Amino acid sequence: RERSLILVKHDGVQRGLVGEVIRRFENRGFKLIGLKYVQATRAQLESHYEDHKGKDFFEPLLAYGSSGPAVAMVWEGHGIITAGRAILGATDPIKAQPGTIRGDYATAAGRNLVHGSDSEKAAKREVDLWFKAEELL
Ligand code: ATP
Repeated sequence: RERSLILVKHDGVQRGLVGEVIRRFENRGFKLIGLKYVQATRAQLESHYEDHKGKDFFEPLLAYGSSGPAVAMVWEGHGIITAGRAILGATDPIKAQPGTIRGDYATAAGRNLVHGSDSEKAAKREVDLWFKAEELL
């Protein structure tokens, strides 16, 4: 079954958007198979964002991720990776369509509230990074 790692990042938690994010995925008919409230370690964030190592926003990105706890979720269902990213909206919230989470609630790429896996390979890597097998039900 197709799976995606969805994070409500620290700013999304602070803004009180956890329920809103869950509601949108539930309404769409996707299945929640893992959920936790977690403070990521710096090593975990470096691994999570390994594709961005060397970019100018890498350090701010780690600082942003380290600044407080996030809610990590694994959602399952046909098309979840593509549909999940559509629910989140474009990475840069200025370009995100109204009706998407970022398009409705965010304005800055550096504080874009949520994360979603962007490929099956990334999803597998990210789910393994954030969850133990026995935490997925
Ligand atoms: P995420 O991986 O969080 O879902 P994404 O896959 O839509 O986001 P990526 O291009 O993988 O986007 O970037 C990862 C994260 O890095 C973004 O979510 C954002 O927080 C941050 N980021 C990306 N581009 C920029 C930028 N130009 N300036 C500041 N932060 C950025």
